[in-house]
Amino acid sequence: MDQSKLLIRNIQVYSASQTIKQGYIKINHGKVEEIGPVGSLTQTEGYQLIDFPNQNIKAIPGLIDVHIHGANGADVMDGTAAALETMCRALPQEGTTTFLATTMTQSEESIEQALQTTAAYMKAQPQRQAEIAGIHLEGPFVNPKRKGAQPEKYIQKPNIELFQKWNQLAEHQIKLVTLAPELDDDHAFTKYLVEHGVIASAGHTDATATEISEAIEHGLSHITHLYNQMRGFHHREPGVVGAAWLQDSLMVELIADGIHSTPEAAKIAFDLKGKHRLLLITDAMRAKCLQDGEYELGGQKVSVKDQKATLEDGTIAGSTLQLHNGLKNMIEFAGCTMEEVIQIGSTNAAAELGIDDRKGSIAAGKDADIVLLNEENNVLLTLCRGEVAYERKA
Ligand SMILES: [Zn+2]
Ligand SMILES: [Zn+2]
Repeated sequence: MDQSKLLIRNIQVYSASQTIKQGYIKINHGKVEEIGPVGSLTQTEGYQLIDFPNQNIKAIPGLIDVHIHGANGADVMDGTAAALETMCRALPQEGTTTFLATTMTQSEESIEQALQTTAAYMKAQPQRQAEIAGIHLEGPFVNPKRKGAQPEKYIQKPNIELFQKWNQLAEHQIKLVTLAPELDDDHAFTKYLVEHGVIASAGHTDATATEISEAIEHGLSHITHLYNQMRGFHHREPGVVGAAWLQDSLMVELIADGIHSTPEAAKIAFDLKGKHRLLLITDAMRAKCLQDGEYELGGQKVSVKDQKATLEDGTIAGSTLQLHNGLKNMIEFAGCTMEEVIQIGSTNAAAELGIDDRKGSIAAGKDADIVLLNEENNVLLTLCRGEVAYERKA
């Protein structure tokens, strides 16, 4: 039997155009070949069969996390291929099949090491694991007033020359930069990013709503971890939060773990932004998938207790959220439908990153990045480019 041909049968298929109640997906050499209702299935010889009769299993597109630092003991800032491999192998268990390797504010040498290692890893991405779609540079161009867990001693003003050097070292794989627009003189840095196809995102920022509006005119299009480490909403100064809610051009990241934003705040974000302008992210650090205990983030000690990660002074330091739980939370917190959480968990990110020709929905010709969810919406099986990267033990 040709192992590269797979047939998944008797599942609910959440495809780009419709939801098929009792459907099938044919996969051939890593790509979705055909989808349809089981009744119209022909030509099954040569396919390895995965069948779920009478089980109410959903097939959704692989999730895309544009903001994640680490998982299962590893962190992008470790600057090693082994750390990236650990992350790529761990993430399919939460349904993530694509992500942006996210750096932190650190010394220039550490950032450069992480950039070069990630670019090298991306050149020959192994099968049966999540795929790195690029790099999210979080800091060092942020505001010390809103530093959160970004170590202050390495924070710098937005610097085009330094970024040029870094993006060269990263072989032009930096896709998204989190910066504080109020520190970007004449918005020159934002303009430079946008002219070079890099998404400019406001985060760790003390900007006013007016400053965000000005930055939008120069190409700012994204908001990093809404509510966290930014000027909050006030009725006489709507802040970054007010701008994020109001400005339709902004794609907004949300950590839907109930810790970085309460269930009410998550619902407000969904109600105001709608399903097309919100992205579920984890902003996870290395303790994800591991037990409570002592860990490290950006050279600082982090304690994880009841899955909440904090610095010694109590500042929240990344999350331990698994992305499929973010989807489940949005169904609970905001009353989202499955179609809506697919949109905010995968489709929007693929479109924003310009990889929607391959990712972000289940459709013929696209990568077979597919997650099977059971009745409780837990991950049963994850395919990365047509190969089983995770299978839940019975
Ligand atoms: Zn952050
Ligand atoms: Zn982060």
